[in-house]
Amino acid sequence: MNVSRSTLSALSLESFTALDLETTGLDSRTDEILEIGWVRWNHGKISGGGEELIRPAVSIPAAITRLTGIRNEDCRDRPMISDVLLSVWRHFEKGILVAHNASFDLNFLEKARQQWQPDLPPIDARRVIDTVELARILYPWITNHRLETLTRHLDIQADPVHRARADAEAAGSVFMRLVFEAMGLDGSVLDTILALFDGSDDELSRLFKHIRALRNGTGMKTVSRRKGPDNRIENMASGNKEIRSDCSISDFLGPKGLLEKILPGFECRKPQLSMAEQTARAFRQDGFLMAEAGTGVGKSMAYLVPAVLRMPHAQSKTIISTQTKTLQNQLFYKDIPLLAETSPLPFTAVLLKGRSNYLCQRRWEEIIVNAGNLSSAKRRQLLGLALWSHETRTGDVEECGGFHEKNQWDGWREVNSDGAFCRGHQCPAESKCFYARVRRAARKASLVVINHSLLFSDMAAGNQILGEFDTLIVDEAHQMERAASRALGRSLHLWMFYDLCRKIDASGSSSAGVLNSLQKELKRRKELWAAISESVSELRRTLQPLCESAELCFRRIEARMKPASKEYAVEKQRVRSVDELFGSDASTTDVSIHLKTAAAEFQKIMTRLAMADSNGEEKPESFQQVETLLFETELLKENWEFFTGGLYDGHVVWREKRKEEKSPSVHSVPLRVDRLMSDYLYPRLKRCLLTSATLSVAGSFDYMAERLGLNRIEKDRLTTRAFGSPFHYDEQVRLIVASFLPGPRDARFTDAVAEITADILSVHDRGTMVLFTSHQMLRGVYRRLVSVLKPFGIQILGQGIDGSRTRILDSFQKERRSVLLGTSSFWEGVDIPGEALEMLIIPKIPFDVPTDPVVQARSEEAHRETGNGFMNYSVPEAVVRLRQGFGRLIRKAGDRGSVICLDNRMLMSRYGAVFLESLPVNPVRCDSRESLMEVLAGWFETA
Ligand code: SF4
Repeated sequence: MNVSRSTLSALSLESFTALDLETTGLDSRTDEILEIGWVRWNHGKISGGGEELIRPAVSIPAAITRLTGIRNEDCRDRPMISDVLLSVWRHFEKGILVAHNASFDLNFLEKARQQWQPDLPPIDARRVIDTVELARILYPWITNHRLETLTRHLDIQADPVHRARADAEAAGSVFMRLVFEAMGLDGSVLDTILALFDGSDDELSRLFKHIRALRNGTGMKTVSRRKGPDNRIENMASGNKEIRSDCSISDFLGPKGLLEKILPGFECRKPQLSMAEQTARAFRQDGFLMAEAGTGVGKSMAYLVPAVLRMPHAQSKTIISTQTKTLQNQLFYKDIPLLAETSPLPFTAVLLKGRSNYLCQRRWEEIIVNAGNLSSAKRRQLLGLALWSHETRTGDVEECGGFHEKNQWDGWREVNSDGAFCRGHQCPAESKCFYARVRRAARKASLVVINHSLLFSDMAAGNQILGEFDTLIVDEAHQMERAASRALGRSLHLWMFYDLCRKIDASGSSSAGVLNSLQKELKRRKELWAAISESVSELRRTLQPLCESAELCFRRIEARMKPASKEYAVEKQRVRSVDELFGSDASTTDVSIHLKTAAAEFQKIMTRLAMADSNGEEKPESFQQVETLLFETELLKENWEFFTGGLYDGHVVWREKRKEEKSPSVHSVPLRVDRLMSDYLYPRLKRCLLTSATLSVAGSFDYMAERLGLNRIEKDRLTTRAFGSPFHYDEQVRLIVASFLPGPRDARFTDAVAEITADILSVHDRGTMVLFTSHQMLRGVYRRLVSVLKPFGIQILGQGIDGSRTRILDSFQKERRSVLLGTSSFWEGVDIPGEALEMLIIPKIPFDVPTDPVVQARSEEAHRETGNGFMNYSVPEAVVRLRQGFGRLIRKAGDRGSVICLDNRMLMSRYGAVFLESLPVNPVRCDSRESLMEVLAGWFETA
């Protein structure tokens, strides 16, 4: 699969230099170059290259030595960067450069140039082709674009070893292969890419221009690629499949059942079988079941099987709601297909997400035609969608590995499906609209998988999204209250004002604003335009003062905030009155007036358009946009009136400032969601299963039933059952609770935690995770552990310090000698079986932050109702979280390890017993460091 010499010449790629650096860390401001490698390519073949190992001014971190194999002693006699920079630079002075994640290397090189050879000309970034950027365009279906992933995916015989020359060679080989792939792109995909490159003046854009010029003459075909997953799984009646309606649960899950036959390693589990039977019974009796399923029960099959078994007998629709994407994907891409394969019963399943996850075909097509209206940064972001948009069958951006909608939200919101820009039935792209298609499929499907957020948005929207359904399965049900609070709450951000104004009357955006669209469409209907032009002008006049006065208000909110605590990345401060929030700021009235004017003028426009329509004349295309934007304006106005009206009873209201955001925001959630659920969600259901590994507190379901409003349904309709884990916790876990550390409120606590953790890790070389409740404490322990453990070659991975959650989890699982320090998101949803995780250290009982406005308000409310908010709200919440954290350790039947809790309140407080009763093993109390080390050693020695 080589590109011929003549093609390379036509592409101006006769020669190029691939380069790579190894460094002492990731930050070019503080870390140093350790090695520089380069490889020269001529006419598609390597013609030379070189490398320089460099003596850094700082000691090489152990993690870098482990990664690269470069030790301090290897560099002792090597030149420093100042000695070699000039000679190395000449290899990079001319021609095309290729690098993987080029900005990383360029930043280090530029820093060295400025420091040691400022007279040298800087490397022009336009000469550099980044193979990550190119791979994201050409391989949107792979989840990451690391060099090793690409060499593996492309079958390239080069093994990136984190040494500069070898990796430069790998990057060059990947580049050559990507050029070959790009030559095979369809003309229409090339046109999309070139539209997004329009006006760019760099080697990557030139490469695509050359390919376009050559493309028609080459006759090369598109290389076959891995297509994305379908979001509909069908198991409809087929000629060669026996259809049976007399299947039982044990036909699927029992010994010698269908799953055992098809799934290697599947074993009939008693708790799974009995949970499935209990679920089926509850469904038969039109009841509600709260089912706590311990780790290893296999709860997803225990509810999927009874759900599918019901289908031939009932014309009902089942909605399955999860909190996390991980579970959603496991259900939809693993468990349901497996069931579809085994099941002799017909069913259809659809994965449905919130609207904003889907690409809007019309907006995308318009962007491509009018790409010049977008900034080049946005266009560059959207390149990752170019090929994917032609190949996807779902339009769900999550499947596009070339684009990260959360980090590239600016670009995504130009092209995603958005009610404000949707033309509905008048949309020329409606027949291929992804969102419309998936909604239609969801309405017909027997099983629809969604997330909690969509479930509650649908509840708030009067079931307009999901339509009718009578069976609901909620997995990860312990997260329901939080999800409902979020979905049913209100928020105000300054960007909402700007966003609305941009949608109404934008400049510098592809979606030129509804007023401009109206003006264009009504060019030929001068009378109608004249009838609305006064309102249009008034609306336009209102937008700027609206944004200005909103900006003033948000500045006032910020000025009234108490100084932020250093401990948290988000500062939240509860407010109890409108005065506390805004003071006596006249600009709140200005905002109200401008919003009122905007809504009124919109209403006038809409009425005129509707009248024109009812006169039988052609309906303007923007009519629906006007309607949607009127709705958005009303919603913003309603939220504004809520926050400025001050009727905060039954709500928790707070102002919030995130470190990375310029402006504060204000939020409110219902104080309680139980009544909302029992009034609006449960009455529409005939049957419902709520399941999770943690629904009970000290063996009772009462707390969770009350929080979720399940105590309000008829008593005989609700059953609660716990299905114990098939694991043998007594044999698999040693729970140690230390009593000898100072209490968590003691100033010496962080040091004591760091010290005992270091002691444990210096003796026990086992995968360890430490679960914190605050970033501040995590950082304090991290600093101390780094200085003590790094000399032992132990890698310390800190959340928020050493990269994203995914990245540090990945390193943790790969690196046997490592310890992971994590906070909130690591307490749940982390699945690390085997030796990678054998010790779990819990420094503190995971109480919610008491100053968090929602925690504070709900605890106060529990206090008013029960006389003890702490025992009746804070403790049960922390129990659920502790049980989730505990559950990280034992994931498989063969796992074995220890949970070490360092909070002496577990033993010495009146509430400690509730925590201990809620865990599946009895604790071993250790009153000294020595006894802890002895118990731990004894436990691992008997392994
Ligand atoms: S129907 Fe709406 S969401 Fe779908 S493609 Fe058209 S404008 Fe976009």
